[in-house]
Amino acid sequence: MTTSNEVPQILIVDDKPANLLVLEKTLSKLNVAICQAASGHEALLLTLEHDFALGIIDIQMPEMNGYELVELLRGNPKTKSLPVIFVSAIYADTYHHVKGYESGAVDFLSKPFEPEILLSKVRVFLRLYEQRRELEHVVGRLQEQTQTLFQTNNALGRRNAQLAVAHTISQQITSILELEALLTAVVQLIRREFNYDYVSIWLTSPEQNHVTLQTVASRQDNDTLFTNHQIRYEATNSAIAQVCQTRQPVIITNLAQDVYQAALRFRGTAQSELVVPLLAAGELLGVLDVLSDQPAAFNHNDLGLFNIWASQIAIAIRNAHLYATVRRFNEELEENVRARTAELQTAYQELALLDHNKSEFIQVVSHELRTPLTVVKAYSQLMLGETLPETHRQYLEGILTGAVRMNELVNNMIDMIKIDTNVLSVVFEEVYLADLLEGLQEQLTPHLEERHITLTMGHFADLPSLQGDQVLLHKVFHHLLINAIKYTPDNGRITVNGRLQTYPDGQFIEITIEDTGIGIAPEHQKAIFLKFYQTGRVALHSSGTTKFKGGGPGLGLAIVDGIVRAHGGTIWVESPGHNEETCPGSTFYIILPLQPKQNMSHPEIDEG
Ligand code: ADP
Repeated sequence: MTTSNEVPQILIVDDKPANLLVLEKTLSKLNVAICQAASGHEALLLTLEHDFALGIIDIQMPEMNGYELVELLRGNPKTKSLPVIFVSAIYADTYHHVKGYESGAVDFLSKPFEPEILLSKVRVFLRLYEQRRELEHVVGRLQEQTQTLFQTNNALGRRNAQLAVAHTISQQITSILELEALLTAVVQLIRREFNYDYVSIWLTSPEQNHVTLQTVASRQDNDTLFTNHQIRYEATNSAIAQVCQTRQPVIITNLAQDVYQAALRFRGTAQSELVVPLLAAGELLGVLDVLSDQPAAFNHNDLGLFNIWASQIAIAIRNAHLYATVRRFNEELEENVRARTAELQTAYQELALLDHNKSEFIQVVSHELRTPLTVVKAYSQLMLGETLPETHRQYLEGILTGAVRMNELVNNMIDMIKIDTNVLSVVFEEVYLADLLEGLQEQLTPHLEERHITLTMGHFADLPSLQGDQVLLHKVFHHLLINAIKYTPDNGRITVNGRLQTYPDGQFIEITIEDTGIGIAPEHQKAIFLKFYQTGRVALHSSGTTKFKGGGPGLGLAIVDGIVRAHGGTIWVESPGHNEETCPGSTFYIILPLQPKQNMSHPEIDEG
């Protein structure tokens, strides 16, 4: 090829060496290179090797004349437009009869020629040649630029499509939380958008020693058959195994190398492969495998984008795992809640039934037991008003005492049941302990006198009133004073005192009931507040209410404790010990708040 810097070459053809010499000499005045040919054949050969700017051809030559030569030249694309100057001794316009001249410039020169005329004709052709060269050069550059633009445009289009896919993937990732649905959507999208042969995602096993084919998008429909196929990390000749081991992407331009994978039928047409690891926070979750039927379909520019997809897919897998865990947890939680609710409902129904039974029982005890007792009491009292023989009177008095005692027992049992079943209702009102204790003292006077026991009351009138249930508090002090009388020998003393105490959580009245009785052993001092707890053997107890060591069912202190607690108060006993000879005595302490509150905390009492 002649470049613009090279000297234009001129082909001169003549069978007579003398003519050739003359021509060459004439042309040597120009800045041109000259090739001589002695025949048409020689000239044709030269045109194969050189790119001529002009041919100066003798018409009359043996074997192939000038016209025939030019006709052949016109038939070849390379020399189709070669400008020609025919040189002839015979000046004739015979050339018009020869085909093929239209395409190239032609001129004539008769022999003998004027060198100047030849030179001026040659110069014209050379100028034309130069201009054509320049034009070709410009066209060539334009073509190159067009080509570059075309390629750039293609690359941009491809990048644009890749970005669009990346965008769609990120949308899918945020909208699809089901792992299987998500991965299927992603592989289908990548395969469709780039017309790849085969796109698949493989997920790592929990033991991190193999990957399992999770989802496939392929040109062949039946490729889903291959899901669950496994590749171990240590497999040789597998790009997927290599990526699992190195956690680096792999590009294969000639798939024959990937023998292991090539063995799979679906890879028949694939020629190149790209495998990228799916990594999230440094953890390998699987691989994305893409196959193309084009050789060298993947390059390092693609890698950047595939890595972005891979990290998006990895994040999606993690999210889906998290979502699945949360969903499983929620389901378990809901199941637990359902089960617990059912259990609670059953328990509630059982409790409701028990509550009903309990109320029924209290009802039965209070009415069915008390009613006949009232009848016995009433008729006994009625008959005692009649004139009776002395023995009958004594019998009747015995019946009446028994009925009264039994009535008391039934009442105590009802109180205990109410405390136990939390149905004791406390009606809070203003209670003056001075009044309450004074009334009680009056009530107990016959018993005190009978036993020669002195009851001394402190200055309760100086104390403020407290909020409490008049009837229940009366029971508290009644039980405690009856006990004090019962467990104090004749001629003993009972002292009741009260004082106002201020604690961080409010004001309290502390009442002490001190006797000179038989005392209580330390090991019994807590247990006596439990129901049916007695310190001695029942059979030994006397049956009288206030008789010394008179028997009881062991309910009194349990009822007292229940009532005190229901008032937000505390009770405990202090005694040096039990001794019926020396009678060390006992002191019961009761602390009652002036204003009981719900969930009231009480001062810590040292019970030691
Ligand atoms: P009981 O019906 O047997 O009197 P309580 O619950 O009232 O039942 O008393 C329980 C036990 O506590 C009595 O059996 C008695 O042993 C003991 N006890 C109660 N008060 C005194 C006291 N003031 N002195 C000595 N022992 C007492």
